[in-house]
Amino acid sequence: MRAAYISHASSMRHEMGSGHPECPDRVSVIADRLLMRGVLDFMESFDAPAATREQLGRAHDSLYVSELIAMAPAEGYRQVDPDTSMNPHTLEAALHAAGAAVLATELVVRDGFRRAFCNVRPPGHHAERRTAMGFCFFNNAAVGVRHAVDELGLERVALIDFDVHHGNGSEDIFAGDERVLMVSTFQSRLYPFNGEQARGPNMCNVPLVPYSDGAAMRAAVTDSWLPALRAFRPQLLVVSAGFDAHREDDMSHLGWVDADYGWITRQLAEVADACCDGRMVSVLEGGYCLPALARSVEQHVRAMIDLD
Ligand SMILES: [Zn+2]
Repeated sequence: MRAAYISHASSMRHEMGSGHPECPDRVSVIADRLLMRGVLDFMESFDAPAATREQLGRAHDSLYVSELIAMAPAEGYRQVDPDTSMNPHTLEAALHAAGAAVLATELVVRDGFRRAFCNVRPPGHHAERRTAMGFCFFNNAAVGVRHAVDELGLERVALIDFDVHHGNGSEDIFAGDERVLMVSTFQSRLYPFNGEQARGPNMCNVPLVPYSDGAAMRAAVTDSWLPALRAFRPQLLVVSAGFDAHREDDMSHLGWVDADYGWITRQLAEVADACCDGRMVSVLEGGYCLPALARSVEQHVRAMIDLD
């Protein structure tokens, strides 16, 4: 199968101060791990292009895009929310992170690739139509999904989010958009403290109880996600892939292990193979314990490209 690995050097230049968990090393430990373990031997590598204003405007209010571009500092930091700030390289990194999702979508929908993984930051799923928050500026996965429907003409795209935090930004953008089915799991009563009440019939939100482990996730996927996905018959799967539900990650209180990321990815790959010629795009979201992140992403990508 043809599989794409997409990244960009600007992901290493955006940083939000020493000690911030959403740090440049996140993408480098993933790249190193995939290289050292031979996974990249099975993938074609691409540099992410910058997303255009038109592409961003399909998921975000155009005034918001203009304001964020205007906020970018020439030096120092510009605070966006208590946990989120821009340095002089943030805008470039955010544009290329969103552009990675656009390229991934084109490769998979149009150019004969079956899978694409985007190793980029800043992450995106907390970014709402008009709001940057939670380490996120542009909603990368959402920009990719809207590119697939508005530009490439797909009628049904599934957005899957297994980050431990609820993808409030994606829900804000897609609630009520019947071309998109969003299925997600997240830890209840954790940042951003919403998602328990779904905002539209195209949202399948499954909160997970704090201190539950991978068994609870597997039940949610089996009982809720898979029937919804199969009924929807997506023409493309886009995954907001966060790895912060791992038991070694102190951002949350869930107890997932490396193998859970392989399992959940295999379930999704089977849906993609059954519904849409295997078309599956994955975009990095959270994951802050670097060793666990690198190992879990390896499990995820191996399962995505059928290496196991
Ligand atoms: Zn997260």
